[in-house]
Amino acid sequence: MTQLPDLSDRYALVTGASRGIGFQIALQMAQAGAHVIAVARTVGGLEDLDDKVRASGGEATLVPLDLKDYDGIDRLGAALNERFGRLDILVLNAGILGTITPIHQEKPKTFEDVMAVNVTANWRIMRSFDPLLRASDAGRVIGISSSVAHKVKPFWGPYSASKAAFESLMRMWAAETAKTAMRVNSVNPGPTRTHMRAQAMPGEDPASISTAADVAAKIVPMASKNLEETGAIF
Ligand code: NDP
Repeated sequence: MTQLPDLSDRYALVTGASRGIGFQIALQMAQAGAHVIAVARTVGGLEDLDDKVRASGGEATLVPLDLKDYDGIDRLGAALNERFGRLDILVLNAGILGTITPIHQEKPKTFEDVMAVNVTANWRIMRSFDPLLRASDAGRVIGISSSVAHKVKPFWGPYSASKAAFESLMRMWAAETAKTAMRVNSVNPGPTRTHMRAQAMPGEDPASISTAADVAAKIVPMASKNLEETGAIF
């Protein structure tokens, strides 16, 4: 397992922190010393995270928010600015799958929801939080993408298109911040034992794929100030 970096005194916001990969990234970042700002809709999941963070001596701020509430994202940006004045780590993890179906048969509402959560919400977060990340001495952005951003997997249409668009936005942000102290990266976690994976691959033996905790342990070093020392390469 990759060693956790020292994230003491770093403010780290993780979207989709109520379960799965985001929950484990948030927990491990808190265990590495970060003050975690945990965003998701499910209050029970956020409270479970808070219990685990506190039990390991860490700190979290819980933010129940539907990321389709774009004005809510702007209000969160303003609140972070007021309270912390900067953001050191942003993990754009929240995502939805939609339905696995022929692309021409996808319901319009499902298509719009997938684009809203996986693309537009992330762009709204970029737009609102960019000044906070620039205010950090080493702002780190980690976008959780997928192999289907690059390869054609029939019946995964809206999800695949959304991840391709997301990665394009991330590459743009990385290029536009290359001369600053910020670093923007995307990562494909690979098949991971979560709610989403079970929805996508119901016949798969969960024991045959990585746990969210193991995947998170590889991703968390990407938040380090000293990226070149972490070997945080997938
Ligand atoms: P889960 O379904 O387990 O978790 C998804 C998270 O996103 C939940 O915390 C959920 O919280 C949050 N979320 C979804 N919709 C919203 C919304 N409208 N507002 C706020 N939060 C929302 O999925 P995973 O952990 O598997 O996926 C995490 C990321 O990893 C995703 O981006 C996914 O595409 C990517 N990924 C996963 C793979 C896998 O094998 N699991 C493989 C490749 C990529 P809540 O419902 O409480 O709002």
